[in-house]
Amino acid sequence: MKIEIVKCLTDNYSYLIFDEKTLASAVVDPSEAEPIINKIEKNNLNLKYIFNTHHHYDHVGGNKKLKEKYNCKVIGFEKDKNRIPEIDITLKDNQKWKNELFECLILHIPGHTSGHICIYINELNALFTGDTLFSLGCGRIFEGTYKEMYESLNKLKKFPPDTRIYCGHEYTKKNSDFCLSIDSKNSKLINKINEINENIQNGNPTIPSILADELECNIFLRSDNMEIQKQLSVNRDNPIEAFAKLRDLKDNF
Ligand code: ZN
Ligand code: FE
Repeated sequence: MKIEIVKCLTDNYSYLIFDEKTLASAVVDPSEAEPIINKIEKNNLNLKYIFNTHHHYDHVGGNKKLKEKYNCKVIGFEKDKNRIPEIDITLKDNQKWKNELFECLILHIPGHTSGHICIYINELNALFTGDTLFSLGCGRIFEGTYKEMYESLNKLKKFPPDTRIYCGHEYTKKNSDFCLSIDSKNSKLINKINEINENIQNGNPTIPSILADELECNIFLRSDNMEIQKQLSVNRDNPIEAFAKLRDLKDNF
């Protein structure tokens, strides 16, 4: 089984997962149909499923056209069934769901939107995080509270450290500037930024990122770090307050 990154719109990523033998495939967050159709046709794939992490247009924009063309099933969170276009199969928090390609685990991770989910495929060591966890960043809080977003990120921190993170946008460079502005002495971060710059210069995506690297470098996963709390002048051992402060600072960065 393989995961192909498909660039969409200006900075979105959709992901095409396919079985090289059976040519059955699934797509995560098709922002628009055309780039997905191109990849499908090029590889002679049979699109069976569309997974949506949340209802924003840049994650569901291709649903209708792809479903019309390939008669595939659209899958999303049960509580978003009224706002994910063309939804066919609704999944619950903590549900394991098996299809002819893979088995996946769904976790509800609210904060960016109230119905946001992530999709974990153990067999591929892959976690699709939509607009909740980015490489070196996290999503804006549109429909939730700081606490919800903080707790959602904590759920993601518990996956195996070698998990590959496939997120919804190429925001890594801008995110790295923000991490560095707070955490300037973090040598792991500095090394990661060198890798990021190299990828960008070569025209390559900075995705997937490895969870272990995110745990060490992504400032939004480090609000429980005493040094960072001290630097942000928040009360000792108050990670949610530190997280909220980081999120506010990033909104205006
Ligand atoms: Zn979004
Ligand atoms: Fe988005």
